[in-house]
Amino acid sequence: MFATRERACSGYLLEYADTHLWLDAGAGTWQNLLQQIDYRDLTGVLLTHRHPDHTTDVFQAFHARRYGDQGEMPPIPLWAPQETLDRLVAFAERIKETFDMRAIAAGDSFEHGGARFSFYDMAHPVETVGVRVEYEGAVFAYSADTGPSAAFAELARDADLFVCEATLQDSDGEWEGHTHASRAAEIAASLGVKHLLLTHLPPARDLGLSLTEAHKASSKVKLELANDGQRFEVGV
Ligand SMILES: [Zn+2]
Ligand SMILES: [Zn+2]
Repeated sequence: MFATRERACSGYLLEYADTHLWLDAGAGTWQNLLQQIDYRDLTGVLLTHRHPDHTTDVFQAFHARRYGDQGEMPPIPLWAPQETLDRLVAFAERIKETFDMRAIAAGDSFEHGGARFSFYDMAHPVETVGVRVEYEGAVFAYSADTGPSAAFAELARDADLFVCEATLQDSDGEWEGHTHASRAAEIAASLGVKHLLLTHLPPARDLGLSLTEAHKASSKVKLELANDGQRFEVGV
């Protein structure tokens, strides 16, 4: 996928308590992030896999935090699969001085700012983790990029907000590594998801069709298409 005039690639800002975590950093999301917060207030970055549509804007945070007028800032955590960390360092070696590089893998979990993060293996051609975040009874889940064969149950069961990729439309054939909007709706409904946000939408397509196909597949789950700049309160 790629950024268009209307839409950035994949990137989300998770905010709770004093935490401002950038989850995936695809092209265009740095400027969207700056619409929401001061980059000096970021507390961490989490990248689900190494594909450029989820990672390349992290270099903007690297330059801003290293070379901005405020002077070099202390490192903040950057979590990603090991191969993603290796690629970032290969591209800009000093990024490992600006970020505290921490490898994550499916099966890992940790606490950050009082929230529990858990990671799951997704069905994508490179190592990719889905992310479940639990905070004060609220559940947020993010599929990253994945085909429909991934084990979604642990990732997204009873999620208050499930951000799920919906790259494909019904006229597309099966394409292991990505999911149809209609299939995402079926999965969300089967797992008791309260609110489904369809993301990673196909550039230059009629996105109304993605929405229609998802609605047709399941009328049980509340769902909508992701748009740049949207904000959601989770679990309230
Ligand atoms: Zn990908
Ligand atoms: Zn992608």
